[in-house]
Amino acid sequence: VSKPGVTVLASKISKIYVEEISSKVNAIKNIRPNGPLLVGFLANDDPAAEMYASWTKKTSEDMGFRYELRRIDEKDFLEEAIIETNRDRQVDGIMVYYPVFGNAQDQYLQQVVAKEKDVEGMNHVYYQNMYHNIRYLDSENTIKSILPCTPLAIVKILEYLKVYNSLLPQGNRLYGKKCVVVNRSEIVGRPLAALLANDGAIVYSVDVDNVQKFTRGEGLKFKKHHVEDLGGFSADLLKQCCSEADVIVTGVPSESYKFPTEFIKEGAVCINFSSNKNFDESVKSKASLYVPMTGKVTISMLLRNMLRLIENSEKSKNP
Ligand code: NAD
Repeated sequence: VSKPGVTVLASKISKIYVEEISSKVNAIKNIRPNGPLLVGFLANDDPAAEMYASWTKKTSEDMGFRYELRRIDEKDFLEEAIIETNRDRQVDGIMVYYPVFGNAQDQYLQQVVAKEKDVEGMNHVYYQNMYHNIRYLDSENTIKSILPCTPLAIVKILEYLKVYNSLLPQGNRLYGKKCVVVNRSEIVGRPLAALLANDGAIVYSVDVDNVQKFTRGEGLKFKKHHVEDLGGFSADLLKQCCSEADVIVTGVPSESYKFPTEFIKEGAVCINFSSNKNFDESVKSKASLYVPMTGKVTISMLLRNMLRLIENSEKSKNP
């Protein structure tokens, strides 16, 4: 019997952005005749990072950008290299392949990247705006804030899959939806839970230790999400959260981890952003829409962020 669900690949979803982004790159030929320049810093020997870097290069060059990978053999020189690149007027965007030190020093490095060149959207100002549901950098609402690219990619995937209801006003388009996010890292899981809740969803944010609920309250009465602790992690609690979940997003960095298929509500939307396959094949017997990987959409969002940064800097030059 054929399964009623469909697997949707990130490459298909990113196609719509490829067109939008390429035509914008063309439209700014007057100010960037050779294409905007993105610099990637690689200071680890992680094969996953290496692969991501080569994808970024290919994708960005295909869309008319220039991409330069700078390898830093001595990690302690990375900070200086970033500062120099911040000052280099030829460079439009900077990204760093993490982990570098694999500890809090990486969070420090994220803040060393100038916010005007921060294509990954990790600067504190952008994070704070996101958590507070503030969408512009200026009081006139003309300069848009930047969103971290992996959480943004998952939002765009949910838009593509029509989980966002476009009949509802912008900012409330997930009203009535229940989502489970298995990962609460500061890079992806927590910002993602906040973004989805800010858009009106009830989000269960799950990590190894506990489960939290992110919502804007009854009748979306709050302007930004609030967080409630639901208790320590247990399979039972996870099962309960999943029983009504329309969306399940996983990001567990482990080869052996598999999300329990029996917890998935029939017809739910399942998305995995981990580089490991967090769902096994049986997910297809339950999910209506299944997205096994998201990296290609993330790269599109990175390039989209870069164009927005250029636009923002032009606007602040000629307000
Ligand atoms: P991380 O190690 O910082 O965070 C992992 C999170 O998963 C933590 O919140 C942890 O508590 C939770 N977790 C681990 N085991 C769990 C379990 N058994 N049950 C419930 N929760 C569990 O990692 P990260 O930086 O968030 O990256 C996660 C994965 O996502 C990695 O595989 C990474 O390569 C990938 N990633 C993908 C993209 C993309 O664009 N596709 C971007 C960034 C990261």
